[in-house]
This record gives sequence, structure tokens and C-alpha cells, in this order.
Amino acid sequence: MSKSPSQKDSHKESPRGRSLDQSAHFILDHQLWVKILSGMLAGIMLGLILSPEGYGVWDKEWVYNLGEWLALPGVLFLGLIQMVIMPLIICSIILGIAESGNLEFLRTVGLRIIPYFIVTTAIAIIIGMVLVNTIRPGDVIDPALIDQMLESGAEAGQVPGQTFENLSIPDRIANLIPSNPARAQVDGNMLQIVIAAILVGIALISIPKTTAQPLKDLCVTGQVLSMKIISWAMMIAPFAVFGLLANVTIRLGLDSLLSIGLYALTVLAGLLCVLIFYMLLIVLFTKQNPLSFLNKIREVQLLAFSTSSSAATIPFSIHAAEEKLQIRPQISRIIIPLGATINMDGTALYQGVAALFLCQVFGIELDMSETILLIATTVGASIGTPATPGVGLIVLATILTGIGVPPEGIAMIIGVDRILDMCRTTVNVTGDLTASAIVDKWIKD
Ligand code: ASP
Repeated sequence: MSKSPSQKDSHKESPRGRSLDQSAHFILDHQLWVKILSGMLAGIMLGLILSPEGYGVWDKEWVYNLGEWLALPGVLFLGLIQMVIMPLIICSIILGIAESGNLEFLRTVGLRIIPYFIVTTAIAIIIGMVLVNTIRPGDVIDPALIDQMLESGAEAGQVPGQTFENLSIPDRIANLIPSNPARAQVDGNMLQIVIAAILVGIALISIPKTTAQPLKDLCVTGQVLSMKIISWAMMIAPFAVFGLLANVTIRLGLDSLLSIGLYALTVLAGLLCVLIFYMLLIVLFTKQNPLSFLNKIREVQLLAFSTSSSAATIPFSIHAAEEKLQIRPQISRIIIPLGATINMDGTALYQGVAALFLCQVFGIELDMSETILLIATTVGASIGTPATPGVGLIVLATILTGIGVPPEGIAMIIGVDRILDMCRTTVNVTGDLTASAIVDKWIKD
């Protein structure tokens, strides 16, 4: 099945296509990536200079206060992104399915993509586990620092509690269907929302077109509107990144940064390996040059990096998939929204590394069966992790409880989470684009 030019042109000429193009160009132009990377470096440098744990020439309370003010644009930025994520995901999934045309096509895509997502996620976790067991960053942590970090985490009330209920497996399966969709939204239960949106999308292609049209139009409006708000948020992205990183570095200081630096480097090395793994898949399955593939998606990667949200990136990933990678809209519009919410290889790798790092810190040894259980739980947890900033860390609490690590251990890694979140989200989004490119070839050939 090949892409018909008229289909692409009609997309560009439609009000949604035009609006998508405008917002995408606004966000992706203006050398935003230079500004964001400069903001990042400047933030880290200022944080190190001001940190009471470093040079220490300023009053601690005054510097912490200043850090909060510096972080304000970032908090507003993340708030704006989070505000539109729910409608954006719902509208994107419903539209993606409704525009795929027919149930048979949907079934063909679904039968390939779900096993692909699960296998690649498991591979990402295994890469992370091999690295963390080889590098063993938990062994170099000074015990005094563990106490200090646990204390400061608890003091600041930053340790996220366990937010997931302990349900039996049949209950978990039954719980996938949101009997009360409004409650699912209030609770931010992303998996339930995704399932509800998939069902609505399937129902829409099963009813007469004229009846379905008003809801489709509403979803188009919801999607374009959300993008507009994201493009406003992006105006302050460089300041947001600057302030958030300055605040984090002020609180951490050079010593803590260096001692959990090896853990952060392990996560980054793992993410790089996953990226290389994707590029191998691209060469193997699509015969494209991996560097030109990366070049075509670099703006979307930057957007994922600065928003820390796969969901906020959905419309731009779709745009890049169709305009730059020439992927058919019926494929990109299903796989990208779905992948953004359930395919998170970067997050899965991060959760696996973090869990084993904390096991090393607390001297917990896992046997083979516990390791397999950890892999399975992490695959499930990454599927259920909402595609919003910072939640990978919160979901980690559930994983830790399962393997006997005190969830307070999270206080140790919370400091570097901001930067790791940015990096893992970039990998998550790259994974969705890779999956789209592969399935586009797979189904055509
Ligand atoms: N921020 C990540 C994403 O949106 C999720 C996470 O790992 O926190 O893809």
C-alpha cells in the first residue's frame, strides 16, 4: 500500500494541516536548539557557582530562595505542557484510529506493533541491567552521603509516595477498562485513558461517516488548540531549562553531583546504546542511512528533550514522520500517539538501571527469578507510565517496593532526574519514530 499524494496534499491544505505546519515551524525554527542547549549549560554553571555545597560564599537560605525564583519559568512551562497533555493524547489517539480508514488495516498494524513494543522495551531494560551490573555505580557511593541525601529528600518532602495500588493480576486486567472515564482523567490513569480513546476511535470507524464527523472535528480542534498552547510554552523553553537546571544544581552541589554522576552516566550510556540499537533496526529494516534519519528528526528530539514529554511532542513527531520521513499518515497517526503513551524504552531502561543501582546502594542481591520479575514489572510499569515530565521516577516507587528497596531511596536520585528525564524522553520519542518507519516498510513490503 503506497501513500497517495492527494492524501498528503489534502492534509497540508486542511486547516489542521496548515495550523500544524505553522505551530511546528514556529517551534522548530528560530534556532531554538541553540538557545535551549545554551540555557542548559548556563543553568548548570550558575547553579555550581551559587550552590552552598560548592563555593559556599552566599547564605544558604537566600540561594535556595533564588533557586526557586530561577525555576519559576520552568515550573510554569511544565505546568502549561501538563495542562494540555490529556486532551492532546485523547484527541490524537481517537483521530489516529478514526483516520486509519478501516478495522482490517488497524488489526494488521496492531498485530505487528504491540509485540514490537514489548520486545524492544525488554531489550532496553536488559541493556540497562547489563550496564549497571558491569559499571556498578552503587558501589562507589559514600554511606555518609546516603544518609545525608535521604535526610534532605525527606526534609524537602520530595520523596514521591507509592501511587499505584497493589492489585491482583485479574484485578489489574479488569482495571484496564475505565468504568468511570472522568475518574481516570482526574487520577491521571494514562493506560485507562489510552484504552478508552482506542475504543472510541474504533467505534468511530464503525458508525456512519456523517454521524462520526462532528466528534472528529472536535478532536481536530482539540489537537490544534493544544499545539498552540505548547507553542506558547516553547517561547520560554530556554529560560525554563536554564532555571530548572540552575535550581537542581544549586541544591545538589558539586560533591553530590559527582557521586551520583556515575549512576547518571550509566543511564546516559544505556540510552546511547538504545539509540544505536534503533539505528541498527533502521538500517536492517528500512535500509536508510541512520545519520540522515537522525538528521530528519533532530528538531523533534530537541522538542522532546526540552519538554520532557512524549505526549507534548506527538503532533510534531507526526509532522516529522509524514513530512521528513515520508511515512504514511495511516501508520504514523496510529503508532506515534500509541507509542508516546505505551512505548517508553528510555523510561524502561532508566527504571531498570535506577532499581538495580538502589539495590547496589542498599546491598540487596537479586536472584535470577527476582531479576526476571523485575524485567516483567518494568516492562509493565513503562507501559503504564504517563507520557509527562518526571513521572518515570514516581512509577519507579512501585517497582522498588516489589524488590524490597525502600522507596525513600528515590531521594538519592531525584536530584539528577530532571536532566535524565529530558534524555530518556528523547529516546522514547526516537523509539516511536523508529517503530513508525519500520512498520511503514513492513506493511508495504
Ligand atoms: N517524561 C517521559 C516521557 O514523557 C516519561 C518519564 O520517563 O518520566 O516520555
